[in-house]
Amino acid sequence: MKNIVNAVNAYLNNTDAQGLVPTSIQNLDDTFFAIHQDDNHAKWLVVLGSEDVTQKFETVETTNLDGKILVKAPLSDHNCDVMSSYFTWMKPVKRTGHAYSFGLGDRLGIASNAHLKLFKGRGVLPVLAQQSIRELNLTGRTYTDVINAASWSVFEEGYMDGFGADGDHLKNPFEIDYAIKCGFPMITLDCSEHIRNEVGEFDEATLKAEYAKVNETLRTNFENEYLNKTFAVSDDVSVTFNEKNLMESVLIFNDAILFAIEMNDKFVVPHDLDFEISIDETIVPTTPENHYFIANELKKHDIVVETMAPKFCGEFQKAIDYRGDLDQFREEYIVHEAIAKHFGYRLSIHSGSDKFAVYPTIGEISKEGWHVKTAGTNWLEALRVVAKNDKAFMLELYKFAMDHLNVAKAYYQIDATTDNALQLKDLNIDNIHTTLDDDMSRQVLHVTFGLILTHEVNGVKVLKERIYEILTQHYDDYDYFLEKHIGKHISLLNK
Ligand code: ZN
Repeated sequence: MKNIVNAVNAYLNNTDAQGLVPTSIQNLDDTFFAIHQDDNHAKWLVVLGSEDVTQKFETVETTNLDGKILVKAPLSDHNCDVMSSYFTWMKPVKRTGHAYSFGLGDRLGIASNAHLKLFKGRGVLPVLAQQSIRELNLTGRTYTDVINAASWSVFEEGYMDGFGADGDHLKNPFEIDYAIKCGFPMITLDCSEHIRNEVGEFDEATLKAEYAKVNETLRTNFENEYLNKTFAVSDDVSVTFNEKNLMESVLIFNDAILFAIEMNDKFVVPHDLDFEISIDETIVPTTPENHYFIANELKKHDIVVETMAPKFCGEFQKAIDYRGDLDQFREEYIVHEAIAKHFGYRLSIHSGSDKFAVYPTIGEISKEGWHVKTAGTNWLEALRVVAKNDKAFMLELYKFAMDHLNVAKAYYQIDATTDNALQLKDLNIDNIHTTLDDDMSRQVLHVTFGLILTHEVNGVKVLKERIYEILTQHYDDYDYFLEKHIGKHISLLNK
């Protein structure tokens, strides 16, 4: 084995600094596989074996070595498929059976190596590939790109414990179909387009009038089942329906439930998907009665969900810590957890990243498991690498972000404005890194990622190219920042 490594290294003129990545080396039926990083920090697949095997790959270089054929191959989609046929652990798995899972939402597609190093041995399934269609549009990536980037990292790190892939916040059959065709074993159904937010604002008369429009048989059935009834979900938690909260539950969520049933029958069951339902992108928090009503209706239709994402009280703004009453969060979280446990699924917390204040509560209360999602925080850690290694460029990026904040704000609910974020006139190459520690400036940089990555000058995505260039030259910095930052999330969750 050592001889093969030496021979391959010698052929590739590998120096000590570069060379075959030790964790990536695999031997399977007399064939040798490894990832090779060249002097320009580019990564390649190297395969040494019989022609039967090597001919399956797209290659840039072929030679004879040790009586076998050695090929150098790009980390392409085709080669990823071939590799997955040999190493099935390169394919994403369902979260079923994993009590703890963590969504990482790596927008740039280069954070997974650091994530895997961090998650090894912690008993938490890393959902490396997790993107919404909106995120794909904003980064110019496809679902195939997202899964394959994760799969190559899994191979490189020799990570055989399983990883997840979440088609996140999918809103319609087209998006779900696309995610399935690209190999996502999990979908998060975003029901927001079927949730009637305005109902929360109705006065009593309007509420009654709107409720009266619901089909009479349906109303009678709901009233017989829920009205003035109390349901125990644990020894000390119960949910009681009165006229008002029943009418609200029906009006706000019944269409969303019907939508979930339809998508379940059409996609989840036939494709044996790992199913999350998200109702977090609403205006009003999900009450215990709302949650119980949804869960119970789904159960009546034999829908099996692995996780459910309610909207919790307080604010979960992107990239900054929780804003709200921590005692109230805890009280309500206990009730949501009891409902989830009663119906046999886990809570999913769409944290928007960096909700350090509530992680200890989640870790403590959800003793039998949780699913926590983060997203843009990896992007901000990537910018830390930029701020460390090209301060002038980071200034340029921040200026761009400030100039485009109002365009980006159409997509996100955030407090940041061009007035409350750190001001350009006060920033220079010595303090530009502070934009990554200031709440409002973090949000500015967080929400403008799509505009930054897709910004073109003469057909060239100049900012994106420079960012990737810096990151590939400084993988170690990126690994360091990610380990520290995502590590903080995980340890506060008590894992
Ligand atoms: Zn969400």
